[in-house]
Amino acid sequence: MKKDIIIIGAGPAGLTAGLYAARAKMNTVIFERFMAGGQIASTMEISNYPGAPEGISGPEFGMRIREQAEAFGAKIMDVEVLRVDFSGELKKVYTSEGEFEAPVVIIAGGTQPRAMGAVGEDKFKGRGISYCATCDAAFFEGLHVYVIGGGDTAVEEAGFISNFARKVTIVHRRDELRAAKSIQEKAFNNPKIDFIWDSVVDEVRGNQRIESFILRNLKTGERREITPEEGDLMFGLFVLVGFVPESKLYEGQVEMIDGYIPTDETMMTNVPGVFAAGDIRVKRVRQVVTATSDGAIAAIEAEKYLEGKK
Ligand code: NAP
Repeated sequence: MKKDIIIIGAGPAGLTAGLYAARAKMNTVIFERFMAGGQIASTMEISNYPGAPEGISGPEFGMRIREQAEAFGAKIMDVEVLRVDFSGELKKVYTSEGEFEAPVVIIAGGTQPRAMGAVGEDKFKGRGISYCATCDAAFFEGLHVYVIGGGDTAVEEAGFISNFARKVTIVHRRDELRAAKSIQEKAFNNPKIDFIWDSVVDEVRGNQRIESFILRNLKTGERREITPEEGDLMFGLFVLVGFVPESKLYEGQVEMIDGYIPTDETMMTNVPGVFAAGDIRVKRVRQVVTATSDGAIAAIEAEKYLEGKK
């Protein structure tokens, strides 16, 4: 099926690109594997998006941009992209719903949660280890929860989890948090949050469910086994150690640096007609506002690129 523009990914970058492209009367399709919204769909509250001083929930934010893009005529399809071929003038995208082609593609696949790399982590992924506080915090009402990581996500989400948990322990591999000072302050002032410094999880143990995990102090080498506190049947374990780009599909198709896609100022990759927007790009600041901005630029520049081809 031929389109003017194919956008891969329906997070803030992809949806905004779709909104701009459709508004410019381009025949626009946006592919998304899961529900629209990308990473923000699993964010409880976005409190730093300009113009929303009361804050807005991630899923609602995603749905609103989706509605706006659709109102301008963008078509959003829940399909899986299986393969791409950007070698010709018309870029080909093979999906679970068949083959699509367009002179312009915007890659906005974003990132996915990074694993911490502990033995046993794979076994308990989604079966005891959580990578999404918004999704799973409520399951740990009244329990002790461990949060692994020291960045904005871990420290901010620890605060959210403390609305449910009896106690939240942030485990960080250094003795200083990476999170922004304002986020750190909130955590330091939260009586339910405490910290274990200089430590990593080496191993997660259990049979049907997690029974314990092994913490290793990186300075002393000491290893200790963490089990549920007396009276508890279980504890929570949230791994919030950053993200990795969703870019495997594009290997050999566009230039990449450590899995991230470099672009020029117009969001164009090294392949003419192929643009990238949002967290999947090589960039320093990954925020919702920079993702939407990338999306707008990519769509506007894509339109100019198409005009130049006519
Ligand atoms: P991040 O900034 O990459 O931080 C990851 C954290 O996990 C770091 O503290 C890192 O330790 C630790 N870590 C990484 N790999 C680990 C491992 N294998 N085992 C144990 N710890 C590990 O990721 P993020 O916090 O998810 O944030 C991602 C981006 O989103 C950032 O740009 C952030 O600013 C942005 N964000 C912003 C907000 C906000 O503005 N409110 C909220 C959430 C996210 P080290 O510190 O030692 O490297």
